Amino acid sequence: MESTLSRDEIALQARARAFAQAVVRPRAAAIDRDEQYPWDIVKALAEAGFVGMTVPAALGGQGRSFVDAVLVIEEMAKSCTVTARIVVETNMGAISTVMAYGSEAQKKLAARLVLEGDKPAICITEPDAGSDALAMTTRADRRGDTYVINGRKHWITGAGVSRLHLIFARVFDERGQELGIGGFLAVRDESKSLRVARREQTMGLRGMPEGELVFENLEVPASMAVLPPSGFSRGFADLMNAYNSQRVGAGTVAMGIAAGALDHALEWAKTREQFGRKIGEFQGLQWMLADMQTQLTASRLMLYTAACSRGPGSSAFPDPMLAAQAKIFASESAIKIVNDALQFFGARGYSRELPLERMARDVRMFTIGGGTAQVLRTLVASKMLGWKLPQTRDGYSPNPSLRDAAE
Ligand SMILES: Cc1cc2nc3c(=O)[nH]c(=O)nc-3n(C[C@H](O)[C@H](O)[C@H](O)COP(=O)(O)OP(=O)(O)OC[C@H]3O[C@@H](n4cnc5c(N)ncnc54)[C@H](O)[C@@H]3O)c2cc1C
Repeated sequence: MESTLSRDEIALQARARAFAQAVVRPRAAAIDRDEQYPWDIVKALAEAGFVGMTVPAALGGQGRSFVDAVLVIEEMAKSCTVTARIVVETNMGAISTVMAYGSEAQKKLAARLVLEGDKPAICITEPDAGSDALAMTTRADRRGDTYVINGRKHWITGAGVSRLHLIFARVFDERGQELGIGGFLAVRDESKSLRVARREQTMGLRGMPEGELVFENLEVPASMAVLPPSGFSRGFADLMNAYNSQRVGAGTVAMGIAAGALDHALEWAKTREQFGRKIGEFQGLQWMLADMQTQLTASRLMLYTAACSRGPGSSAFPDPMLAAQAKIFASESAIKIVNDALQFFGARGYSRELPLERMARDVRMFTIGGGTAQVLRTLVASKMLGWKLPQTRDGYSPNPSLRDAAE
């Protein structure tokens, strides 16, 4: 499969692999144990040019493709999930949204922060609006040249460490009329109007803070509304398109964890002896290895295909069908591959002295965050059928102009 990569892509992959093994791997266990965001790794990633790679060269980035980002993310994820997620979110997700729909000023702001190592936060989910994101109640009220944002979001990745925030809110004009759901850029400062109310106690990915954010009369200049050409009425659907790059990134993190776990299992199969033989000589384990490798290869191909499906022009995102299928398959396969890799180690696999248990905790999140496996299946089925399905909000949205965004 690697023969399909260009020379430049292979060189980038090799550089990322060397960096991950020398800089990231030795830190991974401590990042998990101490539950601290790895600022030292962020600095090293920025110096090595792995953040903001996809930002256009005119804005100080390298103008690299999503395939390039995917290659780097996999190498980081083999060693440390938190590091891989930093690479995802400094190259895909919110930064892609701003690069696609932002004004020149917004692009410059986002590019500067990301190239400094800032991992932007995407703020969509609320306590009562998870899969049903259109049920969000956070609101942005127009007051002259500003929007005033009030509301509460939870499970926001990077809460308390991210500076740039892309906040989704229901938009109201000066007369109080609802216009749709919009995205707003805000930079966290010391003011109390954007504060972290609590940190979630997570199963895995413990070095990456997940938190509840509260916006209390947060004033955002009107010029910081990220407005797709479709405006606020259909804007949510366009803004959510950014999630197709985020999904490819998240699927790649899961696939990379699985690849790392499989490397460990393979090595152990060749060294551990029982019954006077290497355990890799037992057919029961050989067939597990073959299945793990097959699922990994299929995941990788689906992710590469989805990453390549980005259309012409910087405003395009990966194809929603391909991105959803790749994330479903890669995340579900990765959970199984990591679980099987842990099995190879017997009791040792269950020990905190080896990385397998950390990988098993980390990988579990990828069928949940960024669209659950169930909701993504609904997306795939609805596109196959060409229907809006009853388990979405279509048909009873209070604002008919929001219905299209239910996709
Ligand atoms: C580690 C982590 C990081 C995250 N980071 C962010 C972030 O940075 N920003 C952000 O905005 N959000 C973030 N999230 C939130 C994430 O996007 C939501 O958890 C997700 O959308 C699901 O919402 P929920 O947790 O409220 O589950 P619910 O929507 O309450 O779903 C509960 C269950 O019901 C199922 N379900 C719901 N609706 C349907 C349906 N129509 N058909 C079939 N099954 C259905 C779901 O699949 C799930 O199994 C993160 C979550 C995690 C775990």
